Amino acid sequence: MGSYRIEIVVIVSLMVLVPNAKGWGKDGHAIVCKIGQGRLSSAAAEAVSKLLPRSAENELASQCSWPDDVRKVIPWSSALHFADTADSVCSYDHTRDCVDQRTGVKNRCVVAAISNYTNQLLQYGTYTQSNYNLTEALLFLSHFIGDIHQPLHCGFVSDLGGNTINVLWYNTTQKLHRVWDDNIIETEFERFDEDFDGLVDAIQKNITEHCSNNDISCPALYASESAEDSCKWAYKDATEGSVLDDEYFLSRYPIVNLRLAQGGVRLAATLNRIFNTKYAAVI
Ligand SMILES: [Zn+2]
Repeated sequence: MGSYRIEIVVIVSLMVLVPNAKGWGKDGHAIVCKIGQGRLSSAAAEAVSKLLPRSAENELASQCSWPDDVRKVIPWSSALHFADTADSVCSYDHTRDCVDQRTGVKNRCVVAAISNYTNQLLQYGTYTQSNYNLTEALLFLSHFIGDIHQPLHCGFVSDLGGNTINVLWYNTTQKLHRVWDDNIIETEFERFDEDFDGLVDAIQKNITEHCSNNDISCPALYASESAEDSCKWAYKDATEGSVLDDEYFLSRYPIVNLRLAQGGVRLAATLNRIFNTKYAAVI
């Protein structure tokens, strides 16, 4: 799919906290980025370290929610956090589903955004000055690889990926989307004192990286998995007014863990391909 150029009108230091309506919450994004940064090659680790703002103190995880923080300030970025699919189809089709639903502009969704920022980052280390802000490209890419692994980021168009479905999470009213962004992870912390650092080791055998044709990133595949998981796990038994308690939590948290771990492993794999390629190009 073609990349498109996006003019960025804010700088990284412009941080405005707004309620997070879509995307893993801060914990989920931090987990994905922490897993990812821990698995970088030396070339990629060096590039990430140079691109991060100094205030990050070389912790990618501390910056991974920045695209959510600024989405109200840069409204064009809102459509890039997800790729909702046709209702009840349970699969992702790029031509059909990668479209900004508000404007009808095609090729504006999380899948195209990942391809776009991957292409921007490929300019790192080249002799010509990049036209892009590669720090922002790194933060967007890291955030969107997290988002695309949240199943309800490839939920249905008509309910905005579960944002219009109100459920009871134990005894609190929540949007279904929020249950998957935050509540399942928070409940894991409370119940199990979950060790997310050890998450990848525990489920590693289930994590695969399918990028084919020597592609540097393969987001359409991740979107297809999420679309399938949204039907199989997120929407199932979670209609308007449903009570979601232990039965739902205990059967879904392993899916959340797997998607977080996949997000981290694939973020690392993508960054390693990007920066190893460029590293090879400049020596
Ligand atoms: Zn997001």
